[in-house]
Amino acid sequence: MGTFQTLDYKIPESMQRSWQNIVNLIAKIAEVPTSLIMRIHPNHIEVNTVSETQNNPYRVGDKEELGHGLYCEHVIQHKQELVVANALPDKAWCNNPDIKLGMISYCGLPLYWPNGETFGTICMLDSRENLFSDTYRQLLKTFKEAIEAQLAVVFQQHKLLRLNNELKNRVENRTTDLAQMSYSLTKEIDRRKAAERQVNYQKNHDQGTGFLNRAALEAILEETLESFDHDSQSLVVINVGFSNARSIQTKYGFEAFDDVLKEFRFRLGHSESSYFVTGRPSSNDLVILLWGEDIEPKVQNLLDDIIHVSIGNFYIDNTEAHLHSYIGIVQAQENGCAKQLLQNACYAMLLCKESGEPYCYFSENHIHELHNHNQLESYLLQAVRNDDLMLYFQPKVLPYTHKWIGAEALLRWRHPVLGDISNEALIHMAEQNGLIFEVGSFVLRTAIDKAKQWSELVDNFKIAVNISPIQLQNVNFAEQIEHLLDTFHLPAKFLELEVTESALIADEVVARNTLNKLHEIGVTLSLDDFGTGYASFSYLKKYPFDAIKIDKSFVQQMDNSEDDRAIICSIIHIAKKLELQVVIEGIESTQQEQFLIGEGCDIGQGYLYGKPMPCNEFEQSLFNQNLLGGQYTYSS
Ligand code: C2E
Ligand code: CA
Ligand code: CA
Repeated sequence: MGTFQTLDYKIPESMQRSWQNIVNLIAKIAEVPTSLIMRIHPNHIEVNTVSETQNNPYRVGDKEELGHGLYCEHVIQHKQELVVANALPDKAWCNNPDIKLGMISYCGLPLYWPNGETFGTICMLDSRENLFSDTYRQLLKTFKEAIEAQLAVVFQQHKLLRLNNELKNRVENRTTDLAQMSYSLTKEIDRRKAAERQVNYQKNHDQGTGFLNRAALEAILEETLESFDHDSQSLVVINVGFSNARSIQTKYGFEAFDDVLKEFRFRLGHSESSYFVTGRPSSNDLVILLWGEDIEPKVQNLLDDIIHVSIGNFYIDNTEAHLHSYIGIVQAQENGCAKQLLQNACYAMLLCKESGEPYCYFSENHIHELHNHNQLESYLLQAVRNDDLMLYFQPKVLPYTHKWIGAEALLRWRHPVLGDISNEALIHMAEQNGLIFEVGSFVLRTAIDKAKQWSELVDNFKIAVNISPIQLQNVNFAEQIEHLLDTFHLPAKFLELEVTESALIADEVVARNTLNKLHEIGVTLSLDDFGTGYASFSYLKKYPFDAIKIDKSFVQQMDNSEDDRAIICSIIHIAKKLELQVVIEGIESTQQEQFLIGEGCDIGQGYLYGKPMPCNEFEQSLFNQNLLGGQYTYSS
């Protein structure tokens, strides 16, 4: 048989004692040797209470396995009273285990828990035949009811206990849940607060350095302008611009430049206060706001500090780096606006860059200049977009034969209202506002296109193009040249790039990489305006130049100055030793020409041979000259 389903609740001591009385009473009244209360378990049945009678073979705790034909098991299974008057002659009962203990008659009733599950039995056994009269059977039934009433109490107690426990657990769980919830809630609140703080921080600060960003600077400036007393206090905005920021960022990465700026700020000292804040309105600039009473000496000290820190060495990955910094200052006027102040400080910084002064104060006069400058800038943008720029070409010649062997491409911009605009101004502005890349591309494309046509007309015709330092600092410059040569099918040897010293100072590593690549693909490289810089000769050793171009200022002064003649001679002499070709520009007279030929000039350029001229005119002259076989034409 299968296992039995029953409750295992413990019967309390006091109840056990009353049950003991019951079985004793039954045994005594019914005059039987044994009365028992049996308890069923899942796999066996056990003597729970046994009458304290003589000759009683049963003991409390005796166990019997189920399935062996016990009287009690029968009662339980059939859920009804069993009376066996004499088992011996009864086939159904003659083998039951109690016979071995001498019990041949039995009368028993099932005992139930209030939920219907069986507890066991209450019974009496006799060693004699016993018919168990109705009286005794009724007695047994009465005690069965008494015991079941007690079981009901136990059951209810357990139920109560269980419910109590459940309640307790529920309360405990609820408490833990609540604690958990309140913990999560606090965490969530903290998280949101932190996120809000972070968002606020990011809204107001530059990510790389932690300085205030443009919006925050403007807001603080606006606030300060509104609240401070113009009679007793003053406010200055100092804009420090770093012209080589881009090149440091390109070479070492943005983070490296961020670190340099942080270090720069650290070295300045002057801790942030309610009268002193640092911002980074753009990637290349720092702005310092300073206000209060009698701040003039503080401003002067700060300017001195900025200049001092600017010329110091900075280290990026153990490599020494230098900052090219320019300082613009503006003093707030009454009813000044924050945006305008920041813009004026930036403009003063640009003026500082042009003036060569250590710093530059913005003044009202500058506003007019600024207006013109802005106007010109927008004109230039239009010109670039509308293809209004032009290239002129100036012949480069062999001095002995005057044969045109090449040309220098020179930019021209004639504005319908402003007239001719000088190349120096044009290039400078384009370098400042970034248009130089578009302008430079236009020049390269046009020049290479023309060179391709003319190289088919004249053997070894070479076009020379001026390259701005900014273009040379672009790490993709060499690829751009290669691509253009490819596109126009011009062999690299027919292109010459004229580079000035300033291009080499900005970032030597980038410049060297680019020049080496260009040299490898076969482009001719010449060092322009030779002799006007500080270190012309040292650059000849460092970079793969093929030619030098001696600046026209030497030629112009040659007629009157012994020194200039001597300088030209020694430059040519050294260049020859270094196996470099010597080009001389600005030759205007045959006298100059004769002298320079005598000294070994390889190629000449100047009004003597031809002024820069529009493309058609140059082409016509080149064509005529070829037909004439090498005669040179004076140009007006
Ligand atoms: P540069 O490279 O030194 O160019 C030579 C300048 O000298 C040209 O001035 C030319 O017209 C002038 N020149 C030539 N022969 C003589 C002469 O015999 N006597 C005198 N007095 N001058 C002569 P330009 O065209 O005004 O150009 C000025 C500068 O602008 C150039 O100096 C060059 O640095 C720059 N530039 C011109 N075109 C470009 C360009 O396409 N890109 C870049 N980055 N710079 C350019
Ligand atoms: Ca040049
Ligand atoms: Ca020059």
